[in-house]
Amino acid sequence: MELTVETLNNWMELFAQKVSANKAYLSELDTPIGDGDHGNNMARGMVAVTEALQTKHPTDLTASLKLIAMSLISKVGGAAGPLYGTAFLEMAKTSQQTTDLAELLQAAVLGIKKRGGAKLGDKTLVDVWEVVVAKFPELTSQQIEQAVLATKDLEAKKGRASYLGERSIGHLDPGAVSSGYLFEALLEAEGR
Ligand code: ADP
Ligand code: MG
Ligand code: MG
Repeated sequence: MELTVETLNNWMELFAQKVSANKAYLSELDTPIGDGDHGNNMARGMVAVTEALQTKHPTDLTASLKLIAMSLISKVGGAAGPLYGTAFLEMAKTSQQTTDLAELLQAAVLGIKKRGGAKLGDKTLVDVWEVVVAKFPELTSQQIEQAVLATKDLEAKKGRASYLGERSIGHLDPGAVSSGYLFEALLEAEGR
């Protein structure tokens, strides 16, 4: 599956819609195990992404991915901004060699892990990215949901939630939930 500028634009539009519709829920998830801002952070970032794509409307994939990365890094803030930003920046770099979506996403996961130091099972967005990307391109909506729900019973080892130790168990990870929306949006953008 090749990533085109058109699919990318649809993907970002659908993701922006999901984040906006679930802004309060994402911040609510971030309240017991964080600082209650994840929905606001992501919504601010995706408004910036949408605006940047609409005003600059880049026509090549690398420029589009780079613009998305820069908007996320400058507007999301917190831990999630640099992590999502790194993911899109790594996809931008890799898109100079290949437009294969599975390869782009693999580069993104490596970037996120390197940037944040989290590994699978640390109750972060890595738990969704790693599982989902490994399943790509035969990824299903149920597999995304499963990966998101699996963060609930884990103890957080990275980020603000890790300050709570065992008390982080029993709560979904907000970044995992927003990443679930990202991949649901991707399936929809691909017409699945
Ligand atoms: P902050 O915690 O700075 O307020 P957000 O609330 O926007 O930032 O994002 C929190 C999310 O970021 C967490 O739910 C988790 O998924 C993710 N996260 C935090 N630290 C890391 C890390 N080191 N590696 C990967 N993901 C992380
Ligand atoms: Mg937060
Ligand atoms: Mg914060």
